Amino acid sequence: MENKPKSQAKRVAIVGAGIAGLAHAWVASQRGYRVTVFDRSPRASGASIRNFGMVWVIGQPDSIQTIAMNSRERWLEASENAGFWIQPCGSLHLAHQPDEWQVLQEYYAEHRLGPRGEHLRLLDKKETLAKSPAANPSGLLGSLWSQTECCVDPTSAVRSIPAWLHRTYDVDFHFSTAVTHVESGSVRTADGSSHPFDQIVICSGDDFATLFPEAYRGVPIRACKLHMMRTIEQPDAYRIGPHLAGGLTLRHYPNFRNCPTLSALQQRIAAEAPELDRLGIHVMASQNHLGQVVLGDSHQYGEQIEPFDTCDIDTLILRELQKIIQIPTWELQARWQGVYAKYSEGLVYEQVVAPGVRVFTGLGGNGMTLSFGLAQDAWERWDGQCPQ
Ligand SMILES: Cc1cc2nc3c(=O)[nH]c(=O)nc-3n(C[C@H](O)[C@H](O)[C@H](O)COP(=O)(O)OP(=O)(O)OC[C@H]3O[C@@H](n4cnc5c(N)ncnc54)[C@H](O)[C@@H]3O)c2cc1C
Repeated sequence: MENKPKSQAKRVAIVGAGIAGLAHAWVASQRGYRVTVFDRSPRASGASIRNFGMVWVIGQPDSIQTIAMNSRERWLEASENAGFWIQPCGSLHLAHQPDEWQVLQEYYAEHRLGPRGEHLRLLDKKETLAKSPAANPSGLLGSLWSQTECCVDPTSAVRSIPAWLHRTYDVDFHFSTAVTHVESGSVRTADGSSHPFDQIVICSGDDFATLFPEAYRGVPIRACKLHMMRTIEQPDAYRIGPHLAGGLTLRHYPNFRNCPTLSALQQRIAAEAPELDRLGIHVMASQNHLGQVVLGDSHQYGEQIEPFDTCDIDTLILRELQKIIQIPTWELQARWQGVYAKYSEGLVYEQVVAPGVRVFTGLGGNGMTLSFGLAQDAWERWDGQCPQ
């Protein structure tokens, strides 16, 4: 779309100022649209500020590596322009059991000569400890190093993007403004006012109830609640280095699914600690710019979700983390829960719900990693479908 004066440009409304909404706002404004974003909260407070801040390229399947790497580039660009902290820290999957080490070796053997290979290395125990002093040396067999992961502090990053988009692309933000009704060509807000738009993208995260609830009926999309914790600042400027994950995580992301030993590993964990499967626990750690270590997580879906954060889940998460990492202090500064929408038949649930109106949600545990890339991909298709 050619750049037109703002008054002549087509108008796009985005509902939701989480990472998905911000990603769409950025792409649409770059493509010459006049963009307005509505969010019912005074500032972003949903899943997008409650996560690990992991740009987790390693966890994505091969088929979407281009989108994931493009998203990573967009994060680096956004950080430079919006001024938030980002660290291209890479990641380590630590192996403390023979089957974990076997899965990592199988994964490496499958990928070392492919496009991902240049970013991957298998490290022995000594090399692993050199990459991260936080790897627990007790029983450590080795690790898989990947250099593609980045770390952001989600709260400061996501909350700084609106000011940058406003400054640079004249995107209008209306916070504390709930959208109560959407139809082709207009958005109505809770004060009863109606606003005309040419295209509307609804990025309402796990809120399936307010706008177009019928669009979700019969669709395999569910809310998922996760428990998270954060330590106080680690003493003496201690850094864990890369993001850290262990054997439990090999069950969680689809990238390890082709490894022949994975099913034996899954069976061992199911037999040894069925509570981990029941509560969807796999454990990871990242460290923000303040030196705090972010720890998690568990996964409870749909009707399993209760408003109460039971302490046993946090205890289990900490128990499993302490098997694979060691840090100077485990004293906690915060605990919280996050809820995301998970679409189980694809990367994102993208649906036209009325002419010129789309919902875009269900990114599951990959929204921070993929939103920028998926939004670019989407607008390329959408502009092709709806020439301006
Ligand atoms: C604990 C946790 C850890 C995670 N870790 C990672 C990670 O490390 N890496 C990764 O890639 N992904 C991670 N994720 C996933 C990622 O955070 C989500 O996929 C992503 O944040 C979803 O973004 P979103 O914009 O769709 O939703 P949200 O961030 O929830 O944003 C939705 C927004 O829509 C607004 N809204 C809803 N309805 C309305 C309405 N009617 N009117 C106005 N505003 C409305 C809400 O106020 C909210 O601000 C994690 C998620 C959680 C919960």
